Amino acid sequence: MADNAETPNIRHTTDRSSGPAPAARALRVATIIVTVAVGMFAALNIHELGHTAVAWLAGDHHASYELRCAPAGFGCNHFDASGMSVPSKLAVCCGGCLVTQIIAWSLVLVRRRAGRRWRLVLTPLIAVFAVDLLLQFLQAIFTPLPEYDLTKVDFTAAATLLDWSQSFSLVVFVTGTLAYIAVWVRLGYRSRP
Ligand SMILES: [Zn+2]
Repeated sequence: MADNAETPNIRHTTDRSSGPAPAARALRVATIIVTVAVGMFAALNIHELGHTAVAWLAGDHHASYELRCAPAGFGCNHFDASGMSVPSKLAVCCGGCLVTQIIAWSLVLVRRRAGRRWRLVLTPLIAVFAVDLLLQFLQAIFTPLPEYDLTKVDFTAAATLLDWSQSFSLVVFVTGTLAYIAVWVRLGYRSRP
């Protein structure tokens, strides 16, 4: 009986001018941070597994992958490239980025149909997988030729296999970096409602 008298206007006094509640905002930030952390761990492993999978497909059925190893510390591929053709070696070089790119673009397609809650997870996840190719380009720009380890600096190793000069490979890597950034910037504008 007393309840009716003591709950008058509480529901009508909600302040909507301050945006989402701090708790909701904190949950959103936490979701993004956790997604980026888990996504980075997954993307790093998947990139290295991509190299190993392609090496396996290229003929080395003993190709393997190790999560913790020396001297790299994290993510090592073990395979024998001695019997492989140049195209197969190139495929091994690019296998890591190929897999992360397939995942990034698949997630872009999934995101288009996803609701707002899923986008909160999908957007940072796409960024984590998409940034892999950019990092590989940047790493290649700053690594001088030659590089004979196929999975250490992927694109420098690819340029070595293709017998590119230092200056030509630099032009390709810088152009590739700018083109890739342009694609994502354009995609970013389009994804806005
Ligand atoms: Zn790699």
